Amino acid sequence: MTPKKFDYYSPTSLGEAIQLLGTKEEAKVMAGGQSLLALMKLRLASPKSIVDITKLEGLSYIKEEKGYLAIGALTIHDMIELSPVIKEKYTLLTDAASKIGDQQIRNRGTIGGSACHADPAADLPTALLAADASFVAKGLKGERVISSKDFFVDIFTTALEHDEVLTEIRLPTFPSHTASGYIKHSRREGDFAITSCGVVLTTDGGSTCKDVRIALGSIASTPLRFTNAENFLKGKKLDDKTIIEASNLKPEGADPPSDMHGSKEYRMEMIKVFTKRSLKLALGRVR
Ligand SMILES: Cc1cc2nc3c(=O)[nH]c(=O)nc-3n(C[C@H](O)[C@H](O)[C@H](O)COP(=O)(O)OP(=O)(O)OC[C@H]3O[C@@H](n4cnc5c(N)ncnc54)[C@H](O)[C@@H]3O)c2cc1C
Repeated sequence: MTPKKFDYYSPTSLGEAIQLLGTKEEAKVMAGGQSLLALMKLRLASPKSIVDITKLEGLSYIKEEKGYLAIGALTIHDMIELSPVIKEKYTLLTDAASKIGDQQIRNRGTIGGSACHADPAADLPTALLAADASFVAKGLKGERVISSKDFFVDIFTTALEHDEVLTEIRLPTFPSHTASGYIKHSRREGDFAITSCGVVLTTDGGSTCKDVRIALGSIASTPLRFTNAENFLKGKKLDDKTIIEASNLKPEGADPPSDMHGSKEYRMEMIKVFTKRSLKLALGRVR
């Protein structure tokens, strides 16, 4: 199928893009177009106006700032995968970006587009929730910073207003003795996740868990924090028994779909396996 007719705009400044979003009828941002165009071709989305933001300068970068790492919204998945600073300090994002689709998708798709598309089966949103990322949005009313807890509202829905452009994603500087990991379970390389798990783990320098954030993908309408497992692990020695006990807890709010990729029951079982593996991956890295 081909998309319905739409007006196409290609602004060269962020201010112009925001004005267009605020004034044009049913306007939608387009970044890499990898998700949006597929929806338009299937006529699951039919915006009347497309505001292509790929000509905006200065939205593709990875920069260390005081207290956080700043990633521009137009940074493509391939840049995330290959960034040395991300690999060293936020390894779960390297894990997640490297598992997205194929090389062509990673060359076009952007971190901002993946976050704004808010597919609970996508890789970066789950990793960003585990990393406690925050999201910088600019719109007609100015700039605001949205926490990952508030950003992902529902399936394919974020907290962004229709006139807002996501400009930057911020990752807090992790304390010492912190490491992270993300593992995706899919039938074939490059498929969307049947389930996935991202972990950011801080130890006391030995094997005791000082802090941990666990996020699960494809298990609810948004990426989901596994808070009861996090609370169970804090202050405990991280041996096999403790990790298995934590992984076997039932995540609060989990309500995975049953579809051709796996039943609800299968996903609930797999989340135990992948939480355990992700915790062990992060623990191995912190050591
Ligand atoms: C064949 C195929 C396989 C894929 N496999 C995977 C996979 O395994 N894992 C995975 O996670 N993803 C996968 N994807 C999705 C891919 O990661 C997309 O690149 C990503 O979801 C969207 O990024 P984009 O830049 O193309 O956004 P677009 O498609 O341009 O936009 C997506 C949505 O976000 C909005 N948007 C985009 N940027 C902004 C912004 N800066 N501010 C406000 N709104 C914005 C758009 O309006 C639209 O609603 C796959 C896609 C394809 C086509």
